[in-house]
Amino acid sequence: MNPELEELYQEVILDHSRRPRNFGELADAAVRVHGDNPSCGDEIDLGVKFGVDGSVDEIKFSGHGCAISQASASMMTMKLKGKSRAIAQEMLDAFHGLVTGEGDDTSPLLGDLHLLRGVRKFPQRVKCAMLAWRALEEALRQNVGEATVSTESDFIGPAHD
Ligand code: ZN
Repeated sequence: MNPELEELYQEVILDHSRRPRNFGELADAAVRVHGDNPSCGDEIDLGVKFGVDGSVDEIKFSGHGCAISQASASMMTMKLKGKSRAIAQEMLDAFHGLVTGEGDDTSPLLGDLHLLRGVRKFPQRVKCAMLAWRALEEALRQNVGEATVSTESDFIGPAHD
């Protein structure tokens, strides 16, 4: 395997894709977002429940797709649980910077998610990695109800951009 692909499909990433964490339906979700990545065929359903202070109380996802899309979603849900809305938004911006190579990618908030850094060398895979995060972005904006997002529409990105 070439070293760039090896970096992309590290053991931790493969493990998350085979045994995704926080996988399933969140029965009492406040907001549900369906995300589509037509360029790869990845689909995700993200459910989020917010605490009284607006933090991410519970988060679960289901869906199917390539290893990168599933691993990114699994790792994202692990990192987000219990985080405030502001921190979640900060992570979203940092992750976008990480996988696109545009912007600061050193945020300590991302932890293991730094392992997905390799996708920046594969433009099609960036959409796979971003799918769950696009759904999160919509969940944070929408707050309640149901929504659909696609990786084919524009990423809103940091407010200061
Ligand atoms: Zn994919």
